[in-house]
Amino acid sequence: MPTPQPRPLLLLDVDGPLNPYAAKAHRRPRGYTTHRMLPGDWVARHAARGERARPLRVWLNPDHGAALLGLPYELVWATTWMHDANTLIAPQLGLPGLPVIEWPRMFHDDVDGIHWKTRHVVDWAAGRPFAWVDDEFGERDPGWVREHHAGPALLHHVDPRVGLTDRDFDVLKDWASHRM
Ligand SMILES: [Mg+2]
Repeated sequence: MPTPQPRPLLLLDVDGPLNPYAAKAHRRPRGYTTHRMLPGDWVARHAARGERARPLRVWLNPDHGAALLGLPYELVWATTWMHDANTLIAPQLGLPGLPVIEWPRMFHDDVDGIHWKTRHVVDWAAGRPFAWVDDEFGERDPGWVREHHAGPALLHHVDPRVGLTDRDFDVLKDWASHRM
């Protein structure tokens, strides 16, 4: 019997894929519920400017937890929310605590012109197959990942006005089925 392959990683951004923050302010997408949250990074960024952060409006779709758990992946947070994704976002979606990619730095310019997360994601994945959903990939990210990551990778862009759709779930399912 061949040994079963470990599941690929699914790296999850919060703002964009799970929270369609760019949808029109008065048109909450269907199926979503509204939350007010104070993630640590948001508070810290305001504090650095001597300001007090007001709670963020966050839209979440409670069906997304089950849909994500139904995918043949190991789920991982790849978001500026870091551990707050486990304490604030996961319970609203019915997700268990997930591993968190901890960014050594955030929002910086990268010398290769790639997204600030990309280099660290590739280091973190250490050659394991991964699909990554985010709303901020640039032109250079896919090529850079192909050159620097030893395993297969899918960088899947999600529209931050819409969030994850059935079509996105189909793409992710399909990609994983070709890796196992
Ligand atoms: Mg995002």
